[in-house]
Amino acid sequence: MRDENCIFCKIANGEIPSRTLYEDDDFRVILDLNPATKGHALILPKEHYKNLYEIDDSTAAKVLPLARKMAVMMTEKLNCDGFNVIQNNNEIAGQTVFHFHVHLIPRYNDDGQSLVMPACHMTAEQLDAVRDEITG
Ligand code: 5GP
Ligand code: ZN
Repeated sequence: MRDENCIFCKIANGEIPSRTLYEDDDFRVILDLNPATKGHALILPKEHYKNLYEIDDSTAAKVLPLARKMAVMMTEKLNCDGFNVIQNNNEIAGQTVFHFHVHLIPRYNDDGQSLVMPACHMTAEQLDAVRDEITG
């Protein structure tokens, strides 16, 4: 299914031009218009899924192998020093475009980016309670 009001549907299916790095039957990988670092790219499925909650298993199963393939190829071409793979779901988590996508972010020793997650301290008891809430 495609969503006619979705910009990433249009980009993924070639109706809107993009700087495409890779394309196959299921995905297009494009350069992000507002890159966090040089080479910041997005994996877009050609079908419309709002986010991880909605993507189907067979498409989801192809995403990590593609992310790995792109990371290896981009690391070789860009000579970057590391790589972040990030995927946001819902507004609170930073999702701004509601068509599933995966960020591929090459990292360089001098890139000045900080994509670190500040830790919120939890006691052993609190961690136990969280595990129980998830698994119970
Ligand atoms: P999110 O915040 O939803 O995880 O990521 C959305 C990303 O899409 C952002 O990094 C933003 O820069 C990028 N973006 C938004 N609109 C466009 C567009 O029209 N073309 C491209 N190439 N990237 C876009
Ligand atoms: Zn879409």
